[in-house]
Amino acid sequence: MKNTIKFFATFCCLAIISCNQPKDKETMTTNLLLEEWTGPFGGVPAFDKMNLEDLKPALEKGMELNLKDIDAITANTEEPTFENTIVPMEKAGEELSRVFKYYGIWSANVSSPEFRAIQAEMSPILSEFRSKISQNEALFKRIKTVYDNSLKTPLEADQQRVVQLTYEGFAMNGAELDAQKKQRYAEIDKELSSLYTKFGNNVLADEENYVVYVNKDQLGGLADGMVKSMAKIASDKGKEGMYAIPNTRSYMDPFLTYSTERELRKKVWENYYSRGDNNDEFDNKKIIAQILRLRKERVGLLGYNTFGDWRLQNRMAKTPENAMKLMDAVWPAAIARVKEEVADMQAVANKNGDNLTIEPWDYRFYAEKVRKEKYDLDSDEVKQYLQLDKLTDALFFVADEVFNYKFTPVEEGSVPVFHEDVKVWEVTDKTSGEHIGLWYLDPFARPGKRSGAWATTYRSHSTFNGKKNVLGSNNSNFVKPAPGEALLVSWDDATTFLHEFGHALHFFSSEVKYPTLNGGVRDYTEFQSQVLERWLGTDKLINQFMVHYKTGKVIPKELVAKIKKSSTFNQGFSTTEYLASAIMDMKLHEADPTNIDIAKFEKETLAEMNMPKELPMRHRTPHFGHVFSGEGYATAYYGYMWADVLTADAAEAFSKAPGGFYDKELSAKMVKYLFAPRNTMDPAEAYRLFRGRDANVEALMRDRGFPVK
Ligand SMILES: [Zn+2]
Repeated sequence: MKNTIKFFATFCCLAIISCNQPKDKETMTTNLLLEEWTGPFGGVPAFDKMNLEDLKPALEKGMELNLKDIDAITANTEEPTFENTIVPMEKAGEELSRVFKYYGIWSANVSSPEFRAIQAEMSPILSEFRSKISQNEALFKRIKTVYDNSLKTPLEADQQRVVQLTYEGFAMNGAELDAQKKQRYAEIDKELSSLYTKFGNNVLADEENYVVYVNKDQLGGLADGMVKSMAKIASDKGKEGMYAIPNTRSYMDPFLTYSTERELRKKVWENYYSRGDNNDEFDNKKIIAQILRLRKERVGLLGYNTFGDWRLQNRMAKTPENAMKLMDAVWPAAIARVKEEVADMQAVANKNGDNLTIEPWDYRFYAEKVRKEKYDLDSDEVKQYLQLDKLTDALFFVADEVFNYKFTPVEEGSVPVFHEDVKVWEVTDKTSGEHIGLWYLDPFARPGKRSGAWATTYRSHSTFNGKKNVLGSNNSNFVKPAPGEALLVSWDDATTFLHEFGHALHFFSSEVKYPTLNGGVRDYTEFQSQVLERWLGTDKLINQFMVHYKTGKVIPKELVAKIKKSSTFNQGFSTTEYLASAIMDMKLHEADPTNIDIAKFEKETLAEMNMPKELPMRHRTPHFGHVFSGEGYATAYYGYMWADVLTADAAEAFSKAPGGFYDKELSAKMVKYLFAPRNTMDPAEAYRLFRGRDANVEALMRDRGFPVK
């Protein structure tokens, strides 16, 4: 995402504008982070040589070079054209964007207190730098001239879209403001960027500071792999003989699902859902209130009433009202289902003589018991057929069948990596053998790595300035098995694994000419990843790759039937915990932030929504990083469901196709219209080309087992 100054992709951090003017060669050779990538495959990042001491000087030099580039564009005395204004902007990002690839690794994969100090110091400076470009009047004047001329004399379709997106990006970010307002706009941005960094670091601090240690008598219900990993973490932290439960989702979730120690479940639950909310130096509530005030003030300068009005104008939903309409349509069915789920769980607890009322720290535990009883489905049994290595092969199988890609491991050591756990594959076109790119996989959790799973690119496809290959990466937080043990994952984690691979396939299939057109439309960009999840349940994949880790036997048909039957199981929980966060995101930004009390607002809003008391929001406000450690998902968390409407509808198309999910014709159509164009065309139009009509919400309701009116 190059020219969209303020839109952050899933993770791809900072979008920078620059151009290709001659560089100060002297400094280029003294700081590795700025240097052109060398080596095989069109050059690859020197991840094995990155040195944190280089970061600050590299950022400073990169910014300086970048501003020089902008000056060169504005110094041009010729009439502004696509070629002399937009093209040099597109060529961008060279030095500074290279630095940011390393920055991204330090930030997400191998973070440290030392890095975070640099990040905190540099984020306001970077924000100021971005403002210098987004508020550059001479630059905007040239862009506006190109844009105005293009309305009279249209350019080629893709050039026209680049101009439109560039112009809108600038206009949305204050380029048309007068000098006084511009100054305030830049001040706000600078303050916001510091607050975002602080917010994220506070959450991380609470994840690191609240580790629960237990002894060997408190491990009831936990799987061997988890226990081993807990022992290792405790011993790494100097607590030999103890077992650690880190305060992250990858430990909280299985612990709450399986641990028979109710008091400990409560403790782990409270730690996790109190992140950023402990009324100490790492508390985020005041930061959130300030972020909301600044966001409202900033969009007010542009004439918008709310942040959502401003943010959604170029999303598929277009307005907060449209997004709310979708969420309101699904919410009642979701909370009604929670009631049924809680009743089922309470019945199991009563039958066991457990003598308790279901509390939030019991939900996962008793849901698992209901799952076993109602569907006779044991997640642990399923896990024995889900080995990470085999699932990786399954990804390649889908890439082969649906996208015609071949994945080949590169020779160990031939492509530099930032950690020994990272593995790299070459991606080629299966028919022509043409090189497409490299896929980096960083599968395991480790201290300093952000939690969850994500995808990112180190280099994106474009052709306007010589063909560029794609360097895409997937990152997860699987608990690394002890040496020699198979890594077994849950069905949900396997689904996420496919999800992130969907993002990667979206990167690899790009056919855009200009870098700007690789940018995502936030409520559409999860579609490609969500639709890929659907291949997990296909027979071809199951029969080849779901084999028992000890016996090698294919997963029994009856077990698969149970998995499928239980696919709508616990949809009350997952839809409600997600929607509660998505609705909260929207309501926080629609509210008057002047004297907002975040704790009170969250409580009252949940009460108004009739939020069931037995479960929390997926991300409570004080640690809602999607929305407050940056702004890419602010008023946009609904986007997952928006994309899921498209996903459910597209999946129905596949299930009805003659070849099912491996239907060649429909696959080709999907890649052609829904993957390859990226942001070259309006997503709504692209979807109509694929499906012959718009998507409707009924497919999603059916999918989740909710009644369709
Ligand atoms: Zn995603």
